[in-house]
Amino acid sequence: MTLSRRTLVGAAAALPLLPRTAGAQARPRIVILGGGFGGASAARFARDHFPDLDITLIERSRRFTTCPYGNLVLAGRKRIDDITFGYERLAARGVRVVHAEAAAVDAEGRAVRLADGSRIPYDRLIMSPGIDLRWGAIEGYDQAASARMPHGWIPSLQPITVLAEQLRAMRQGGVFVMAIPDNPFRCPPGPYERISMVADYLKRHNPRAKILALDAKNGFSKQPLFQDAWAELYPGMIEWRGASSDGRVTRVDVANMTVETEFGEKVRGDVINVIPPQYAAAIARNAGLAADSGWCPIKPESFESARVPNIHVIGDASIAVPMPKSGFAASSHAKQAIAAAAAQLSGRPVPEAVYFNTCYSHVGEDYGISIVGVFRAQGGRLIEVEGSGGISPRNAALPEGRRAEHRRLEALYADGWYESITREMFALS
Ligand SMILES: Cc1cc2nc3c(=O)[nH]c(=O)nc-3n(C[C@H](O)[C@H](O)[C@H](O)COP(=O)(O)OP(=O)(O)OC[C@H]3O[C@@H](n4cnc5c(N)ncnc54)[C@H](O)[C@@H]3O)c2cc1C
Repeated sequence: MTLSRRTLVGAAAALPLLPRTAGAQARPRIVILGGGFGGASAARFARDHFPDLDITLIERSRRFTTCPYGNLVLAGRKRIDDITFGYERLAARGVRVVHAEAAAVDAEGRAVRLADGSRIPYDRLIMSPGIDLRWGAIEGYDQAASARMPHGWIPSLQPITVLAEQLRAMRQGGVFVMAIPDNPFRCPPGPYERISMVADYLKRHNPRAKILALDAKNGFSKQPLFQDAWAELYPGMIEWRGASSDGRVTRVDVANMTVETEFGEKVRGDVINVIPPQYAAAIARNAGLAADSGWCPIKPESFESARVPNIHVIGDASIAVPMPKSGFAASSHAKQAIAAAAAQLSGRPVPEAVYFNTCYSHVGEDYGISIVGVFRAQGGRLIEVEGSGGISPRNAALPEGRRAEHRRLEALYADGWYESITREMFALS
């Protein structure tokens, strides 16, 4: 049977877990840890479609600033307030929102222990805690160094405004250096959208400046499309160097504002943006959910942990290849994890898993590109459904008179996606 998202949602909504008379005490308890793309989406979906579940969301921050559209803040095309949201509407809708640091997961006792020592018991735990940066993986790059060489990759750790201020203050004709990690990492097209949005800013305010992107890999998401756009919109401004051209940064020297590459070249930057290697957030690693890679293996039909029972790990912390680590993907995992948890709690079969992703990127004003995929669980693995996906056409494949309109529409679709996912996550409509 083929289940569309609509039929899955419809089926879920029609199946109460317990008789309504069972009372609040008896309601199965779903606890969601992390109120970002995965967690907030899970809370909203669970609240709307499973009224018989007791839903608690644990999130350390009262306000959530999205990574998506952070690059547009760099460009000066969005303000930080435009991309920052609160949890009040989610709470008003019946999600119990607990703003606290989760200190540990007691998997045996089925409870999350908070930093103040209190415990939140669960029947099923959905973990979407996102990522941590691997401090020290690049020699000299620790949290102190990141004040001078910002990462701008985890908004709660360092707002994108820190990097934006350095970009605004860069001398005329200066060099903006980026260090980009090897796979896997949060948002595969993110660094390249960032290059584009920095170029968009520089073109208007510092047109003699250069961007040097040093990459620890030899290729990247939507590469031909990005490179076509860079040549078209920012000629001569951007140099991208892959690993085989000595692009891997292995060391930073904050005092001298230099980065050192694998084969020993020292590169000076006026502004240096280091995106270091990453792994699943500490709470997931410490709970024994992660493999040696630092990421959490899951069962693809439900996003249940492959290691610890009664816990689902979704979003960036999970190993969900070939899906990218994206907010879109995290939200898609969230819905299946909730539907699966609800089914398991009431002894019903887990619904068939179908996952979706679209990664949009802004590369200039009114210039968007995207990559799309649909995924299924098959034989214990996630696979991309053949023929389901696609990538924006390159310029050569578009009639000349239609190129600008095509790119403009994709930028508009990106804005539409952002508005709809944030409205959904934070129950704004
Ligand atoms: C520059 C950039 C651009 C991006 N653009 C896009 C885009 O256009 N489209 C897209 O789909 N994706 C994009 N992404 C990727 C997207 O941001 C992530 O994939 C997404 O945030 C992952 O969701 P998550 O739920 O796994 O983690 P997060 O959204 O990071 O949420 C994790 C939450 O858990 C909380 N938390 C963690 N540990 C604890 C604890 N111990 N106690 C309490 N709370 C805790 C954190 O505070 C955080 O709020 C971008 C990323 C970057 C960096």
